[in-house]
Amino acid sequence: MSQVGAGKTVLVVGGAGYIGSHMVKSLLAHGYDTVTFDNLSNGHRDAVLGGHFVHGDLADRELLEDIFEEFDFDGVLHFAGSIQVGESVRDPQVYYDNNLANTLNLLRAVRRGGNPKLIFSSSAAVYGEPRQAIIDERHPCAPLSPYGRSKLMVEQIARDFAQAYGLRVFSLRYFNAAGADPDGDLGERHAPETHLIPLALRAAFAREPCEIFGNDYSTPDGTCVRDYIHVADLCEAHRLALEYLPRAGGFHVLNLGNGAGYSVREVLSAIEWVTGKTVPINLGPRRAGDPARLVADAKRARAMLGWRPRYGAIETIVAHAAAFEQRRHQHRRAAG
Ligand code: UDP
Repeated sequence: MSQVGAGKTVLVVGGAGYIGSHMVKSLLAHGYDTVTFDNLSNGHRDAVLGGHFVHGDLADRELLEDIFEEFDFDGVLHFAGSIQVGESVRDPQVYYDNNLANTLNLLRAVRRGGNPKLIFSSSAAVYGEPRQAIIDERHPCAPLSPYGRSKLMVEQIARDFAQAYGLRVFSLRYFNAAGADPDGDLGERHAPETHLIPLALRAAFAREPCEIFGNDYSTPDGTCVRDYIHVADLCEAHRLALEYLPRAGGFHVLNLGNGAGYSVREVLSAIEWVTGKTVPINLGPRRAGDPARLVADAKRARAMLGWRPRYGAIETIVAHAAAFEQRRHQHRRAAG
């Protein structure tokens, strides 16, 4: 493993969460020192496999200032945030507090930190209803939910900060983050879980049905099509962005996806193929705010960062998630 990060310290906000914990593992493997900052509202302390850990909340400006005084960061990665589209419609306050106001606190600290480099976890939700089959970064942004709007607002603020204060920023717009650590150490542990792949895997292992949210979309089999991107490939893009930032000025937006769409039914078939088990299903109504199809054009990330996703096949994404979920299922059964 290359030691490109030797002597460099990175702050990973939300580093105890799903993507953040994979990121910390990858940074440590590349020789970086890490400081994980997490309020453990959704993250897990035991998912932080090394480096420093600070239990804290981005609402705590004083604590943030203390951390930036104590450490000299070579970059800041911001994964913390609330992620459920439906919940954001029901309770937007939470989304504007967590995703917007708290991120503003972080931006203030990054700006004052002397070496202002930020990688922000944004989302394909900023685009809203797609106007074309494959979405590149020039697609208009018209988010459909407070979640998507909170991400877009942070992008707009970060762009202003880049222009006014010399902040260097990559905003990475994820399509559907999925999969688990190929070594099996980490995986997806949301509570409650809302994502298709872990829910369908649980359905397969526990023989309890999972729900398909709508089968009357204008897609080949009627179910929604998404671009699933392996969490390890996402982390690799972040690491490359981190290494690129010293050379890049200003604010950059990049889509992160594979450029291939799979329907809900295709994902369920991949799960059945990988596990050898049937996924019991119930057909349910559409979920509010779900566009029929979301597929990335991620050519810009490939060209700019030299990023090449390694685990693009849906079967690989599902196989890594299945290995992790199967162990959790066994633990749950053993615990009664
Ligand atoms: N989905 C589903 N049943 C579930 C969870 C998700 O049919 O129990 C569908 C959802 O409507 C979407 C796709 O699976 O079309 C991916 O949803 P997920 O929540 O995993 O990610 P999102 O697209 O919301 O980021």
